[in-house]
Amino acid sequence: MGQLDQPTFERMVNAGCSACGHPTVEIQSYIDRTVVVMAAEPNDAGKWAHDGEKFVDGTYRIACASCAHVVFTNSDCPRCHATGGLTRALAETNRMAVPKRCPKCSELELLAIAFVPASARYGGGETPKPKPLAELGDPGYHVIAYACDGCDRAIVAEGCPLCAAPGPLRERP
Ligand SMILES: [Zn+2]
Ligand SMILES: [Zn+2]
Ligand SMILES: [Zn+2]
Repeated sequence: MGQLDQPTFERMVNAGCSACGHPTVEIQSYIDRTVVVMAAEPNDAGKWAHDGEKFVDGTYRIACASCAHVVFTNSDCPRCHATGGLTRALAETNRMAVPKRCPKCSELELLAIAFVPASARYGGGETPKPKPLAELGDPGYHVIAYACDGCDRAIVAEGCPLCAAPGPLRERP
C-alpha cells in the first residue's frame, strides 16, 4: 500500500484545510500515463491510465488550495518507500530511454507507460481532474515500461523506476 490508505486519504481530503477551513485541497500523486512514441519521439500528449485506487496509492502531498497549508506530505519514494526517494524522483529525468525501433521486430511505434507527477483539486464540488506536472523529458517524468504491438513484446524497468533504488517494489492496488 502507498503512504495513505483509502480511509485516511478520504478523511484528509474531506476535512479540507486544517489551518483556514477551506474545503478544496490540491493533491499531488504519481500516476500512470501512457504515451505513443514514434521513433523515440512522443506522438501524442498521452493519456492517464490509472484508477481512483492508484491515485490514492501514489499520493505524496495534500495542501490547501487557498492558503497552501500542507496537510500531508511524505518525502519517501511513492513506489518503493526508499527514504528521500520522492525528492530524487521529482528532480531526476527519465532513466529508461524508449528506443527508436522495437529491438525485436523494428516497429517504429511503441507504447510507453510512465509514472507522472500529477495535481488534482478535490472538494467544494469540483470533480478531480489530474493535470500532468511534467512531460516526457522533464524532471519527474519516468518511463516504467514500453510495449510493442507488432511483436507483443514488453520491456519493464529494472529496480525502482522513480528513485533508482534496487527495490523491491511494493504491491499496488
Ligand atoms: Zn488553508
Ligand atoms: Zn523508489
Ligand atoms: Zn516489436
